[in-house]
Amino acid sequence: MKSRESLPSWYELPIGGISRPNITPESKAGWRFEKPVIDNEKCIRCRLCFLYCPDAAIVESDEKYTTKTGKTYNVSYKINYYFCKGCGICAEECPVKAITMVPEV
Ligand code: SF4
Ligand code: SF4
Repeated sequence: MKSRESLPSWYELPIGGISRPNITPESKAGWRFEKPVIDNEKCIRCRLCFLYCPDAAIVESDEKYTTKTGKTYNVSYKINYYFCKGCGICAEECPVKAITMVPEV
């Protein structure tokens, strides 16, 4: 067994992959009984929903958005409802509660 000192440091490791949309071509929409809705006014663009979504159903776009209070963001987050299965993890993880799970109709 290698000693701890002989193992590479974290910065020497190769860059790993991140999940991206369309990992599987199948839609998960039929699994949902609730769907997440993002409030662009509350969203602080922290990216946590994008990182936590297990189905990579949150899409980061370079669409600008200016809030009613005049703050402009250069990025927006949207839900890809074709892949979203309605698990609610994004709503749970959002630090400012900008995502609401609403009944699927
Ligand atoms: S409800 Fe689940 S699958 Fe849908 S966007 Fe949020 S984390 Fe992803
Ligand atoms: S976790 Fe919440 S605040 Fe962060 S980007 Fe997603 S919706 Fe916006």
